[in-house]
Amino acid sequence: MNPFSTLGIRHDIVNAISELGFENPTPIQEQSIPVLLTGSNDFVGLAQTGTGKTAAFGLPLLELLDFEENHPQALILCPTRELCLQITNDIKNYSKNMTNVNVVAVYGGANISDQLRQIKRGVQIVVATPGRMLDIINRKAINFSEVQFVVLDEADEMLNMGFQEDIDSILSTTPEDKKTWLFSATMPTEVRRIAKKYMTDPFELTMGEKNTGNVNIEHEYYIVRARDKYAAFKRIVDFNPEIFGIVFCRTKIETQEIAESLIKDGYNADALHGDLSQQQRDKVMKRYRERSLQLLIATDVAARGIDVNDVTHVINYSLPDEVENYTHRSGRTARAGKTGVSIAIINSKELGKIRHIERIIGKKFTKAEIPNGFDVCEKQLFAIVHKVHNVEVNEQQIEQYLPRIMDEFKELSKEDVIKRFASIEFNRFLEYYKNAPDLNAPADDRLRDDRGERGERAPRAAGGKSEYTRLFINLGSVDDFSRGDLLNYICNTAKISGRIVGKIDLKGVFSFFEVPNEESDKVFEGFKGAEFNGRPVRIEVSGEGTSERREGGGNRDFKRREGGSYSGGGRREGGYSGGAPRERREGGNSGGGFRDFSGKRREDRSSGNGGGERRRRP
Ligand code: AMP
Repeated sequence: MNPFSTLGIRHDIVNAISELGFENPTPIQEQSIPVLLTGSNDFVGLAQTGTGKTAAFGLPLLELLDFEENHPQALILCPTRELCLQITNDIKNYSKNMTNVNVVAVYGGANISDQLRQIKRGVQIVVATPGRMLDIINRKAINFSEVQFVVLDEADEMLNMGFQEDIDSILSTTPEDKKTWLFSATMPTEVRRIAKKYMTDPFELTMGEKNTGNVNIEHEYYIVRARDKYAAFKRIVDFNPEIFGIVFCRTKIETQEIAESLIKDGYNADALHGDLSQQQRDKVMKRYRERSLQLLIATDVAARGIDVNDVTHVINYSLPDEVENYTHRSGRTARAGKTGVSIAIINSKELGKIRHIERIIGKKFTKAEIPNGFDVCEKQLFAIVHKVHNVEVNEQQIEQYLPRIMDEFKELSKEDVIKRFASIEFNRFLEYYKNAPDLNAPADDRLRDDRGERGERAPRAAGGKSEYTRLFINLGSVDDFSRGDLLNYICNTAKISGRIVGKIDLKGVFSFFEVPNEESDKVFEGFKGAEFNGRPVRIEVSGEGTSERREGGGNRDFKRREGGSYSGGGRREGGYSGGAPRERREGGNSGGGFRDFSGKRREDRSSGNGGGERRRRP
């Protein structure tokens, strides 16, 4: 007998979930389904995301509701639109062999009239985010007087997002004797309070230890200096060629900046944060789900409810302010029994935070070392070798070219051919990493690290005296530069590495940037005669608030750069700030495609951050 049947699930549902690949119940399903099927308990389930909780409550609901009646009988509240759609979709899948099951997804940022129309047509299960649900209740467009079950999914997230009052108002429109089933990854006091307020003697189920993270997640931290953080992060990514990851930043600005820098460095990344429109966010999520995006750079809020399987790595580019959020972040990997790695890139001052998180998740972090250039090259080489070995050959298409290909290689031995194929991409990494510095923070950094965490690249000497020269440049945001663009432009014009450039202050018609004292001559030299869009580019040393002209600035009239237009420029090898060499093709916004993570070509590259360039990843 099918194990789900043993739990009391009827066969048409069992058939449907078998098609979804559910052969055996997950632990939470095994333990909660028999309890929930009685329909007579309030219930608190402490479980991480990805443990199968949707089916844990969804299957019993399908057993308990009367689908001959067409009024709302179950209300599922969840924190985000993504999760709302996911749950709705899952329940539709579970019930595909049943008749007259009507589920509606109610969430903000979408046309309300469609949702109202569906409700009017008659529904038994409403899956909703609290804000839009309340809106619909206030319009008197729904009647919850016969609701028998309320599910509060990811209750801790909903409270984090400030939905407490909305939930109170919504629940006040449901009958007293309904049953409430609450699921939460963590059990902060606010969730306890809700449980107490709405439930009588609930059946409590804790999967694993309280607040314990998923056992399939390995937690690692890397200690780097603040100025090396971005380079270290990229090295970690390069060391994991098959990475399919979510990278968490603390602020929307940081999220956007990191995503932009990665895109510029040729990585397959995009940003997800609250300043993007819903449409842009949907687009980014769609690309990520389809795996045509390899790295999703997100804020905590935007990433809530993201339910994508097979995420290999969660990277905490910045640790969350709220330690509880670490559990939510890391829970995006190792879903459905898979394994995953959660990485924190920290400076030495943040070790205390790691220890705090360890206490919360009840698990130790492993201290890992940023790989050296040789290790990265080796890893990349074998990734290429595996790719070549496993590539699907289109015999039909390639056949016509084979004679010419064979002819081209006739002088070469098999070994030579293999070496050459492997070298095509490998050489980039070798070249890039040949003098790669050690990015691990020195052991004594703990004592003398006085640098901030906010991506400032310029280290400052103890005592506040700058080791850096602050330079003025007569270019700024009016010239369509972002900080990343300007950095890129400076590095390419002055022929210096982005790694040594300090803080960049992007202003309107001018900006400031810092370079090590000993590099400033090189910068002046590099900018001699430089023009931007036909305009001479001027560099000056910035004094205490005033700019002090030096060597007559960069005003001389010979042209250093070709073309004059920065934005049309091709790829500068080596990235601007320690990125692995990627090839970037020109092409603005139209035509072409890019080779994505899975090797497929995709046309759509427009996204939340207004990308549009095509690059080739190694
Ligand atoms: P959830 O925690 O409900 O978001 O589920 C996480 C993932 O596990 C989803 O992709 C589900 O489709 C999958 N899943 C849930 N239950 C099972 C099961 N019994 N067997 C296999 N996969 C499952």
